[in-house]
Amino acid sequence: MSDDRKTSETPKKQIELTPIHDFASKLLQPEILPQLREYVEWQTTVRPDVGTPTGELQVPDFAPVSINLDLTTACNYACDHCVDMDILNLPIRYDHDKLLASLKMMRERGLRSVIVIGGGEPTTYKFFSDTIRFMKDLGLQVSIVSNGSGMKRIAEIADRLDEQDWVRLSLDSGTDPTFQAMHKPKRKITLESICEQVPGIKDINPRFPIGFSFIVTWKGAFINDSKIVENLGEMVQATELAKNNRFDYIAIKPFLTRAEANNAEIVDLKETDDHFDKVIVRIREMVDQAKKHETDSFKVYETTNLKMLENRSASNYMHQPQTCHMQFFRQVLSPLGMYNCPVYRNQNHGRVGNLNAYADEASYDDTRKNTAKLIDSFNATEQCKEVTCLYNHVNWFIEDLIHHPEKLAQLEGRAQKVPDYFL
Ligand code: SF4
Repeated sequence: MSDDRKTSETPKKQIELTPIHDFASKLLQPEILPQLREYVEWQTTVRPDVGTPTGELQVPDFAPVSINLDLTTACNYACDHCVDMDILNLPIRYDHDKLLASLKMMRERGLRSVIVIGGGEPTTYKFFSDTIRFMKDLGLQVSIVSNGSGMKRIAEIADRLDEQDWVRLSLDSGTDPTFQAMHKPKRKITLESICEQVPGIKDINPRFPIGFSFIVTWKGAFINDSKIVENLGEMVQATELAKNNRFDYIAIKPFLTRAEANNAEIVDLKETDDHFDKVIVRIREMVDQAKKHETDSFKVYETTNLKMLENRSASNYMHQPQTCHMQFFRQVLSPLGMYNCPVYRNQNHGRVGNLNAYADEASYDDTRKNTAKLIDSFNATEQCKEVTCLYNHVNWFIEDLIHHPEKLAQLEGRAQKVPDYFL
C-alpha cells in the first residue's frame, strides 16, 4: 500500500445532493451500518497513514450492497449521445444460470439492490422477465432504466415491483422528430407510442414510480467525435407528454461526454466559456416553465448534476480522496466483466473480475481480494479528477471515519421511511 495519501482535506459543502444521492445517509440505514463498520475497521488495520498497520483483519466478508447490472450489450437504438457506444452489440453473453447463481451468491452475502441499466437495452435480454422475477423472489430492490422499446416486457413484470422499486425511460425529447434524430431506433417506434403504454402499466400496478428521463443537450456538445442533436427547446413539451401519460416525474439532467485521457464520463461545458452562461440561462428558463406543470402526483426533478452545473459547483465534486471506498459497496456487473464504478464500465483500470466474478465461492473470494487490491491501488484523486462524482461526499465521509474510528461508536442506524438501498 502506498503511504503518501492526502487525508484530512474536507470537501466543500455539497448542497445540491438530492435524497436519492445522499449515499452517506443510505449507508447509515440499520441493515447496512454493520458492513460500513466492518469496512472502516478493516481499513484502519491496513492503512499505513492512519496508524500502525497490523493486517490482522481479513478483507470484509460481504458482497457489494448495490450493483448496476448490464443484462446485455445489445441495443436496438443508435443514440448519438450514448456514453457506452464503444461497448454495444458485442458477441459476449451471460450463461443465464451462472448469472442467476451470481445474484443469489451476492444476495446471500449482503446485496440489497440492483439497478438494471446501461451497456445495452435490458429488455432485449432473452431472459429479462425471468431475471427480474428471480431478483424480486430473492427480496432485492430492483430498478430498471430502459430506452422504452420493450414496454410489453416491462408490463410483464410490473406486477412484481414494489413501492421502493422504479422504472425510468430514457426518452430525452418532446417531439418524435427529435426522438428519432437523437435515438435512431433500428425498428419503427415513435415517442408517442412508447409514452402511450405507460397508463396500461400503471393500471397493472400503480405502486412503483415511472420516470421520464430527459438528458438536456445543447448546440456545440460533442461525443464520439460527432455533434449531437439539441433538445433544450423541447423540455416543456416533454414535461407535458410525461404528465399526460401518467408518468410520476420527469428528471432533467445535463449531457455527459467521455474524457479523452481515461474515458471517464464528464460534463461537456467549461464554466469559463460565454457559451456556458447562455446554455445555463436557457436551461433555467425551460426548467422554470416545466415546473409550472407540477402537481401532487407529477414532479419535475432537477438532478444533482444539473444543480451543480447551474451553481458552478462542479469542482466541489471533482476533488476525490485517494481511495474510492464506494468500490466496496457498489459495483457494476456486465457481460464484459465486473467493474468498480459505473464510470469505468469496460475499463481495465476498474476491473475486479470477469462476468462470473460472484458465481461461486472461489470466484467470490478472488473478487473480494481483487477489490481490496483496487481499493489500495486505484488513485481516485488522479483517475477521477475530471469526474463530477456523486459519491465524492460519501467517500470523504468514510475517509474521515477511517482517520477517526472513535466516531464509529457514535454512529446510529438511521431508518428511512421507505428503505432505499440503491447506491
Ligand atoms: S471516485 Fe467516484 S468516479 Fe471515481 S471510481 Fe469512485 S465512485 Fe467512481
